[in-house]
This record gives sequence, C-alpha cells and structure tokens, in this order.
Amino acid sequence: MSSRTITRRVRGIPTSDGAGVKLTRVIGQPRLDSLDPFLLLDEFGSDAANDYIAGFPDHPHRGFETVTYMLDGRMRHRDNHGNSGLLESGSVQWMTAGRGIVHSEMPEQEHGLMRGFQLWVNLAAKDKMSQPRYQDIAPEKIPAAEPAPGVHVRVVAGEQFGVTGPVNGIAIEPVYLDIALQPGAKLSVPLPNDHSAFAYVFEGDSVHVGAEVLGLRELGVLSHGDLVELAVPADARAARVLLVAGRPLNEPVARYGPFVMNTPEQIVQAMRDYQSGNF
Ligand code: MN
Repeated sequence: MSSRTITRRVRGIPTSDGAGVKLTRVIGQPRLDSLDPFLLLDEFGSDAANDYIAGFPDHPHRGFETVTYMLDGRMRHRDNHGNSGLLESGSVQWMTAGRGIVHSEMPEQEHGLMRGFQLWVNLAAKDKMSQPRYQDIAPEKIPAAEPAPGVHVRVVAGEQFGVTGPVNGIAIEPVYLDIALQPGAKLSVPLPNDHSAFAYVFEGDSVHVGAEVLGLRELGVLSHGDLVELAVPADARAARVLLVAGRPLNEPVARYGPFVMNTPEQIVQAMRDYQSGNF
C-alpha cells in the first residue's frame, strides 16, 4: 500500500464574488487553476453581515456541478425551474447544473456567522448537457464515523469506515470528508489510487500528512497512492480538514465564468442559450 504525499501547497487568495460576498478562492486562481476534475474551491466565513449579506443573486451555470457545504448559517437557493431549498448549518447541496440553470444563493440571516465551502466539479463531455439535478442533504442525513480514538469523520460522499455518504450517482466517484482530529489523534484514509485528491486544513494549527505538515488554510495537492495518513500532535490544537478526491476526466476544458465546456464554440453556444432564455 502506497501513502500519498503532498506534491503542491497552495494558499487561497481573498476575493469577492456574487454581489460582493467576501471569500477565499483556493482552487480556481493563478496559483492553482484547477485540479482535474475540481475547477474551484471557495471558502467563505464571516460573522460580519456586510461580508455576505448581498449574496449571489440570479446567475447561470452550465457544464459542471456545484457543491455547497454549509458549516454555519442559512442560505436559500431558488432557480428558474421552480426549485427552492434552504441550506442550513451542516447540510450539503450537490447541484448538477448539466445543460443549464439560473439560480440565486442568498443568505437567510441578517447577522451571525456564515461559514462553508463551495466546490465546483467538472462534468464529462457526455454529461455536460444532462438534465439539472439537485441533491439537498439535511445535516442529520450525513453519517459520521469514529474510526480511531479522537477522530470524527462526516462522510458527505464516498464509502469510508463502514458508512456510505448520501451523495450518489456522481460520475467522478467523489470522496468528500470533513475530518475532525483531537490532539494526538491519527487516521489512515484509503482512497482510489489514481484519483485526484486534496486536503485543506480549516480549523486548528496544522495537520500532519505523512511526514509533512500542512498549515491552517493551506491546501495540499496529494500524489497518487492508496491511502493518506493524517495526524495531529498531542501538544497541538484540535484540527479539522476537508479531504476530497475524485476521478480525473482528462478532457479539454474551455471555461468562461459560470460556463465550463470542452470547446470555445460550446462556450459561445452557452452564452447564446443563456441570453436567449434557453437555460
Ligand atoms: Mn451558483
């Protein structure tokens, strides 16, 4: 069994998106343009309403999936097909935009902490024009495992430690884990050998990945391998890390804002379809 190592370290850059929501872009920025099949990773987190209150008014998506993992706060989504739902603390939404949706993602709170992640997952060429699909998963539907002393894992997607995450039917076979490690805890996580994977530390001081140390708010791109070994030293603070893996698509990517296709011609078509109300 081969252990994965860190091949690249990336820190996010502060930016804003939507109508002015402050966030940190970790994937999808000059230091890490993408990590096939992952196109973007944003972390948002603030208890200052001005940082998030403007939200994300109506905007389109075509050709990929957006995965919103809410740690704290409440966000309402509505789309042009009549779907609506509330994302609450601890919930996840796996939205397959497919051929196109126009939606809004707006805070349903005027104060307090809003914290979470949005990940963009590319779709294979054959799936880019599929029907849109939502998987809105309530917090209590996300199973947890305690595979080692001082370790608590929420399994959003994938089969890990005897539990199966609720997200299903996604072609890249995602693993999406929220792993909490107490001081002195360690854990070995099996992953499909050739799937792309990253770890992102979002609480605590640092997490050991094999023989290396990944700092707070640092993303480690992981080498191929059968497993990743995580640990927190006994004298460090408890930590929390997002561990995500998926099968790379190895297809050409043409990307323009909220449209991710395979060719420039398909991007032009996406813009035409959006502007003529065909999403
Ligand atoms: Mn969106």
